[in-house]
Amino acid sequence: MYMNIFVLYFYIMQDNLFDNTEIAFKDKSVFALYRGYIIFKIISFPRIVSFAKFILSFKLIYPLTKLLLKNTMLKQFCGGQNEDDCKNLIQDLNSRNVYSILDYSVEGLENELSFEETVSRTLNLIELNTSNNFPFIVFKPTGIGRFDLYKKKSSKAKLSDLEKTEWSKVLSRYDVICDTAQKKNVSVLIDAEESWIQSIIDEIYENLIVKYNSKKAVVYNTVQAYRTDRLEYLKKLYQTFSSTDFHLGIKLVRGAYMEKERQRARFLNYIDPIHKSKNDTDKSFNNCLIFMFENVELFSIFIGSHNEKSNYLALDYINKYNISKNKVWFSQLFGMSDHISYNLSDKGYNVAKYLPFGPFKGVIPYLFRRAEENTAIEGQTSRELFLYKKEIKRRNYSKL
Ligand SMILES: Cc1cc2nc3c(=O)[nH]c(=O)nc-3n(C[C@H](O)[C@H](O)[C@H](O)COP(=O)(O)OP(=O)(O)OC[C@H]3O[C@@H](n4cnc5c(N)ncnc54)[C@H](O)[C@@H]3O)c2cc1C
Repeated sequence: MYMNIFVLYFYIMQDNLFDNTEIAFKDKSVFALYRGYIIFKIISFPRIVSFAKFILSFKLIYPLTKLLLKNTMLKQFCGGQNEDDCKNLIQDLNSRNVYSILDYSVEGLENELSFEETVSRTLNLIELNTSNNFPFIVFKPTGIGRFDLYKKKSSKAKLSDLEKTEWSKVLSRYDVICDTAQKKNVSVLIDAEESWIQSIIDEIYENLIVKYNSKKAVVYNTVQAYRTDRLEYLKKLYQTFSSTDFHLGIKLVRGAYMEKERQRARFLNYIDPIHKSKNDTDKSFNNCLIFMFENVELFSIFIGSHNEKSNYLALDYINKYNISKNKVWFSQLFGMSDHISYNLSDKGYNVAKYLPFGPFKGVIPYLFRRAEENTAIEGQTSRELFLYKKEIKRRNYSKL
């Protein structure tokens, strides 16, 4: 009976876990709280975001806008211009048991030099991870190979001899990164991009599983739950590997390219690969999550989401089925959903923040994507505003 009362108490407490703004914003000064509040307030107006984008295109006032963005958006959503700039932040996050996943958020050029640069930067990040004991690094497939080449391979079209050589270089880049990561005990997250380049990435991932995931999940593929076929994909992976000892690392996200996906499907007249409504995407995300939890002996789960309900669902499964905390990682983007990240880390769950960095000019598109995403996703900005306001109020009251 005592056990039942304890379980009931746990669930009541857990339901409110993310409401604790004192833990969520513990490190933020009053100034940083007001700054956060004002930023989310501003980006809740789509017209202001579009206007700021327009202003930035004028060279004359560029230095002024740069100064403004540097002290607002950049501070809220980015770690800095380079790895060194991020050091203090990394330590701050570390002190709260939150790991950093440094993410070079500058889109490179589509040439061999740029791809090699991405590889050497990723190898440097693996070194940095080793010295900080960070468990993950991340890269985008198009950071190490040409988009059109992935597209051609995904469509099963025949490659020319030149393209075959180019492709073998792409594959060897995956190998260099995963091999180094494995030796340094770091795991690799492969980001997901557009659906029309994903099938070849899924194929590469399956080969990498066999090479690197025998002792633990070194390589993680990303599943975008907004795609209608992704639960089937997970089931297929399960079927292929269930009788083996390999570990399947999966980063589960909802997906960031919805408009682009829908537009292309309309334009080329094929069935939209994305779920029809947000509700359907939510169901799909939760079903993918449940499927992995039910087969957790095979899956290592990395949840990339700011959605409270999905994160609560994960907690339910972890606690109901006594799943080892090491099997599950929670992750949010830096500057967003601190109430989820810090309340989870405070309770001993594995948490990592994606920490974008890069030269100012290069990260501007990232900053605008964050702003536009926050404006577009109903509820996301209002939730952040509500939380910042709540904490500002709480601090004022606690002074009385
Ligand atoms: C750590 C981390 C890593 C990420 N890595 C990737 C990655 O590799 N690739 C990638 O694509 N994205 C990635 N994302 C972004 C992610 O896919 C989502 O865009 C973002 O996190 C918002 O979803 P949510 O679950 O946090 O929140 P929510 O606010 O609950 O969900 C918003 C999402 O729901 C979906 N949605 C919204 N409206 C509709 C609609 N009308 N119909 C159908 N679906 C709808 C969209 O996917 C939208 O982004 C990552 C996010 C995080 C936090």
